[in-house]
Amino acid sequence: MPKLNENFLRLEKNYLFINIAKKINAFKEANPDADIIRMGIGDVTLPIAPVVIEAMKKGCDEMGVKETFKGYEDSGAGYDFLKKAVSDYYRSFGADVSPEEIRINDGAKSDCGNIVDIFGDDNVILVTDPAYPVYVDSNLMSGRKIIYADSNEENGFAAMPDYNVHADIIYLCSPNNPTGSVYTKEQLETWVDYVKKNNAVIIYDSAYEAFITDPDIPRSIFCVDGAKEVAIEMCSLSKTAGFTGMRCGYTVIPDALKVTASDGSEVSVSQLWGRRQGSKFNGVSYPVQCAAAAVFTEEGMKQIHENIAYYQENARIISDTMTKLGVKFTGGINSPYIWFKCPDNMGSWEFFDLMLEKIAVVGTPGAGFGKNGEGWFRLTAFGDRQKTIEAMKRFEKLVSSLKK
Ligand code: PLP
Repeated sequence: MPKLNENFLRLEKNYLFINIAKKINAFKEANPDADIIRMGIGDVTLPIAPVVIEAMKKGCDEMGVKETFKGYEDSGAGYDFLKKAVSDYYRSFGADVSPEEIRINDGAKSDCGNIVDIFGDDNVILVTDPAYPVYVDSNLMSGRKIIYADSNEENGFAAMPDYNVHADIIYLCSPNNPTGSVYTKEQLETWVDYVKKNNAVIIYDSAYEAFITDPDIPRSIFCVDGAKEVAIEMCSLSKTAGFTGMRCGYTVIPDALKVTASDGSEVSVSQLWGRRQGSKFNGVSYPVQCAAAAVFTEEGMKQIHENIAYYQENARIISDTMTKLGVKFTGGINSPYIWFKCPDNMGSWEFFDLMLEKIAVVGTPGAGFGKNGEGWFRLTAFGDRQKTIEAMKRFEKLVSSLKK
């Protein structure tokens, strides 16, 4: 009889968004005419930029011609033209990342989850709480010990290291999902210092870097001196360029990142990951890589920034409503997420039910992202403008009625 990996039994039974979908379906059945506005799931809604679609079509055409047809890509780590484009992009905001240090993938989620394959099961994992669920789930699946650094109202939902606590692998995400908070350069310098003192490694998720408008906020961990010796970064075109259904991202593992094996030899993390990927991953499709490269052209950047600006305006509308109502929140600036404190000290799920029942607006209960998310709530700016405005009108009425 096959034995299970019983670590999977330690996971929450359902992924957060499945629980939410169940509640929405029950509500829909009871209220078939309700005009539900969804501001929960962090998916984009605007179509992909025309220049990107054109590049993908051209890539498809090339696949249909003998001379330009492509089969397996040699390395599976991405075509040089795309790695060069990503490297130039990094350099444009002050992170010195070479094309050889970049690996193209099918989005940030896979690598965020899979990267732990190359690290031993006896590592202590540090995750900020609340967090994007993949960091916790992928380590629960492999039975690792997870400890938490608190992100809370007091620290502006930007957890900092406790030098008295040791960890081997630290997950950081900035701009943060779900809290919308960002780390300053000084804060990241502190994390790099902590990691060096602990002989540890940072896994840095910068999936929302394109939403940073403040030039002083780092868009990559590699904007920080010394980070190349201690960090791996995952980024993605999902939110930058609407690739959630297209699937393309990139992971940076610097050449300088080395870990000492038990026999005392120095092992290149990049080489080990390349070996893992060589066995388990055959690369991203050529047309998608053509599309991704178009994102980084001058015209591509112009077009994707029109979409980003649209979402940023939605974020402003949501943030302004919170400010007007005196509701405490983080995010909204440098981030497409608005993370707010539930009125009247309500619990996250209690407020979720209230919003759904009273105003048919769906958000994400903060409690689904960790214990410090209890009592907090996430809204996304990725929706339609008119619906965002309408949702905020309903929200204002609801919160005002609670004050009476
Ligand atoms: N990282 C964070 C923080 C996210 O919020 C998401 C998606 O919502 C991802 C990674 C995964 O993105 P993808 O796999 O679409 O690149």
